[in-house]
Amino acid sequence: MPKKSKQQKKDVLQIRPPIVVVLGHVDSGKTSILDYIRKTHVAEKESGGITQHIGAYQVEHQGKLITFIDTPGHEAFSAMRSRGAKVADIAILVVDACEGVKTQTKEAIAHIKKSAVPMIVALNKIDKPGAQIEKVKGALGKEEVAVEQMGGDIPCINVSAKTGQGIDELLEMIILVGEMEGLQGDEKKPAEGVVVESYLDPKRGPTATLLVRDGSMNAGDVVGTASAFGKIKTLENFKSEKIDKALPSFPVIVTGFNEVPEVGEKFYKRESLEEAMAYFQKKERKKIGEGEILEIEPGKKILNLIIKADVQGSIQAIQEILKVLPREEVILRILKTEVGEVNESDVKLAMASRASIVGFRIKINQDAVSLAERSGIKILTYDIIYELAQGVRNLMNDLIKPQMTRKDLGRVEVLAIFRTEKNRQIVGGKVIAGEVKRGAKIEVTRGGEKIGKGKLIQLQQNKKEMDKISHGQECGILFEGDVKIQEGDALEIYEEEKTKHAI
Ligand code: GDP
Repeated sequence: MPKKSKQQKKDVLQIRPPIVVVLGHVDSGKTSILDYIRKTHVAEKESGGITQHIGAYQVEHQGKLITFIDTPGHEAFSAMRSRGAKVADIAILVVDACEGVKTQTKEAIAHIKKSAVPMIVALNKIDKPGAQIEKVKGALGKEEVAVEQMGGDIPCINVSAKTGQGIDELLEMIILVGEMEGLQGDEKKPAEGVVVESYLDPKRGPTATLLVRDGSMNAGDVVGTASAFGKIKTLENFKSEKIDKALPSFPVIVTGFNEVPEVGEKFYKRESLEEAMAYFQKKERKKIGEGEILEIEPGKKILNLIIKADVQGSIQAIQEILKVLPREEVILRILKTEVGEVNESDVKLAMASRASIVGFRIKINQDAVSLAERSGIKILTYDIIYELAQGVRNLMNDLIKPQMTRKDLGRVEVLAIFRTEKNRQIVGGKVIAGEVKRGAKIEVTRGGEKIGKGKLIQLQQNKKEMDKISHGQECGILFEGDVKIQEGDALEIYEEEKTKHAI
């Protein structure tokens, strides 16, 4: 009887906490909001247990749980989405109330709309005198984000991550939107969800933060993604406390994978290691120096990079941000990306391939430092992704040959030739335009045509050495060049500057 089975089905479903992602422009205050909520809503003795960044945490507000995805920026979110994983149930769009709608705000809006999750706007930094709440709401309206107070239906909460104003209201709104969405999970089902963060722990091996979207996970379960699988050796909550079971919407830290799974991949509980293996697609490890053929147009330079980072999610974020750097003049070739500190073998690879090493939130092994110093390999490390991107831009710029640009200074009409030697002449003339400088370059023209060039070695006025002589005055010039100047010639005086157009 279909009616009954529907009823039965309903019985096994439970309300599950909303999973929330925070997006917005750089510096809008995403990290500050997440930090504020974590500090104020995870009890002190417990938060002491959050010893590492695990990419997700859970808070309790008015007896109800909320799961926050705590990853840097929307890169991780798009990585997850690009793999087809539905991660968040609700997106918080953080907008700086002083700065208003910026490029990444628009990008975030596009991401949220594409993924079709409900949005809550958090207008942050309202403690600042420059906050322009109404103006920003209007600007959001132009981006088709119609907030409640402007006749739309998107909730908008004024907050300050500095004073905490509005944060409770934001949490209440999250709970309300979550309830309206009717989020449900089935604890009886085998676990499935998304990899939020992953890294190689030197002691524990491949370690991942998984977000259980549905079902429940038990210690000892076999789980698999497309790139890794294993029997769960340790199952911990986000406070790194050992647990036996994780319910829907719970973030957990697990070890036991055979390899580091990729961020954004879906994971499923499998019946056995054999079954997990069947879904496991062994990734082709690209061998350096073979296989990769790159056609290089003449004049193009290549920047080889080795990227080392703290977690897999950072590597993906770095790759995303490097993808958008212009490639017209310098091709960026990433030879290797790996989680972990910079070690000697990275430097050896850099030596063999003339690469630079870029590290993100990692340490450099001391032997690697010494080897790099001896062999002139650059190792650059950063903690901020935008600074890393700028560092890579600078490396690309260093490869571009400077271009010489000519700066015209003035013109001299030659009135007399005083002396002529092998490749030198002393000539007298009048500055008829601009000014003349010692050390400048000279182009000699006759009847409007260029006939040769040289350099202005000495400059005199009334037998006195001068550095500069300006328009309307007479001067004596010691010229050195490849042409014999005659009376009536014109000397175009100019300088050359090395310029690099920045990438
Ligand atoms: P994110 O790049 O979006 O993660 O932004 P951050 O959280 O790093 O914040 C950027 C800057 O704004 C930092 O210097 C914060 O201290 C500051 N900030 C963030 N939220 C507030 C706020 O509510 N009020 C004030 N006055 N400053 C804030």
